[in-house]
Amino acid sequence: MIAAADLTVQRPRTLKQALQLLRDASAENQPLTPMAGGTDLFVTLNMGQRPSARYLDLWAIEKLRGVEATGKRGLVFGALATYTDCIESKAVHKRLPILVDAARQVGGVQIQNRGTLAGNIENGSPAADGVPVLMAADATVVLRSIDGERRVPLAAYYHGYRKTERRADELIVAVEVEVPDGTQRFDKVGTRAAQAISKVVMAAVGHRLAFGSVAPTVVRARALEAYVEAGGRDVAEAQRLALEDARPIDDVRSTAEYRRRVVANLVAAWLGGLDKPPRTR
Ligand SMILES: Cc1cc2nc3c(=O)[nH]c(=O)nc-3n(C[C@H](O)[C@H](O)[C@H](O)COP(=O)(O)OP(=O)(O)OC[C@H]3O[C@@H](n4cnc5c(N)ncnc54)[C@H](O)[C@@H]3O)c2cc1C
Repeated sequence: MIAAADLTVQRPRTLKQALQLLRDASAENQPLTPMAGGTDLFVTLNMGQRPSARYLDLWAIEKLRGVEATGKRGLVFGALATYTDCIESKAVHKRLPILVDAARQVGGVQIQNRGTLAGNIENGSPAADGVPVLMAADATVVLRSIDGERRVPLAAYYHGYRKTERRADELIVAVEVEVPDGTQRFDKVGTRAAQAISKVVMAAVGHRLAFGSVAPTVVRARALEAYVEAGGRDVAEAQRLALEDARPIDDVRSTAEYRRRVVANLVAAWLGGLDKPPRTR
């Protein structure tokens, strides 16, 4: 456990101040760790796994809050958009209802009130529940430093286990989605309905499919997507292709064999519903 007295926390009120603090800290080679809801960071601190003693608390930056609908299919999630914000947003219900399904299954209400989508992304856990939904919806991560902004497709955001595209002087300021057409589906398989980390999670938007807990990062099932896009509907072939991208391992939560079976079952269920009309609320 790390003693709280050993930590320093800076709490800027504007994005500009936050970005300047990050830049100064990087220049001095003493990077600051951004903190949003703190629901992942506090767990790691409590376990003594996070050596960083310097934090940048983003919670007071009002500009980063909320969810906005843009155009006919767009959604922009501020970096402080929480699961509760998603659950309460009419636009999310209408445009990306599987994000509401996923948000309702994250932790309990307290975690939903504090936990953010940006934190879920940057934490880089392969078992994250929000990430597969956003990845299947072709989301883009908006990164900003004091010098400017860049946009990175979420599907290209991870370089390995908990390794992300973000530089130490950048913040995720938003996540943008132009929701693709098609049937949506979200399945979380865990030991119980609430407060459980996924053994396998699958999210689908049209022909796009993403899996969590089956590889070092959340992954898109590219081989299967290409097969289905070309009109393929054979279940056994679809399952074989899904397992080209989903390569689970044994760990404390499950076995590789169980996860492979779950992936195969979810793919069969998804394929069965693929050509049915999209769900609306
Ligand atoms: C009891 C419990 C249950 C949970 N259940 C689930 C669950 O069912 N499903 C699930 O997916 N997760 C679950 N989690 C994990 C966690 O709640 C989520 O991952 C949440 O989305 C993290 O968001 P946060 O804002 O709290 O992130 P934080 O803890 O504040 O940060 C997480 C990481 O993201 C970085 N970060 C945060 N915001 C930014 C930003 N704007 N720019 C750059 N970096 C940033 C931080 O530096 C840190 O590395 C659970 C956690 C707990 C404690």
